[in-house]
Amino acid sequence: MEETIQIKDLYFKKLLSKEVIRKRVKGIAKRIDKDYCGKNPILLLTLKGAIIFAADLMREMEIPTQIETIIAKSYGMKIASEGKVEVIENPVNLKGKDIIIIEDIVDTGYTMQSLMNRLQSFEPNSIEICTLLFKPKNLVVPLQVKYIGFEIEPLFVVGYGLDYAEEGRNLRDIYIKID
Ligand code: 5GP
Repeated sequence: MEETIQIKDLYFKKLLSKEVIRKRVKGIAKRIDKDYCGKNPILLLTLKGAIIFAADLMREMEIPTQIETIIAKSYGMKIASEGKVEVIENPVNLKGKDIIIIEDIVDTGYTMQSLMNRLQSFEPNSIEICTLLFKPKNLVVPLQVKYIGFEIEPLFVVGYGLDYAEEGRNLRDIYIKID
């Protein structure tokens, strides 16, 4: 029988197993290794959702990298994006650097658009987005996402770093909301 889990008032079923995620993360790491061969990109990890993805991705990569963090908040206790994004500045010098934003999920795209605009002002050499999950049907802004782990339906997901009201981040698989 299909495993159903409950977090607070919501029910979820398994969408992506840890084995499937691991394989995909390895594949993305290999691509980044190839694309950034000879470079030393900054992996700019968006807190908190991307911590597990970024940790696994880094460990699969072979090129030298630097990791930095940034806080990009949009949901709070809700499960639907309102297009309001609060980006908390990161102090490191990004001028002339190759930045890869490591994101857990791109939904409407507002968070990444807002972050990209903010980062441009630091005059980096390049900026690309690497997201584990992408909901193409919800995207409302033009956004180039170079590395995508999985395209998923526009439903709320938890696990592997993604939370519902701060719960569920430690789940090793990814779960999707059911009615
Ligand atoms: P966007 O600005 O693209 O609409 O939303 C991006 C942010 O919203 C993500 O970084 C993530 O924090 C949150 N988010 C979007 N969809 C989901 C989801 O299905 N589950 C969880 N836990 N967070 C989500």
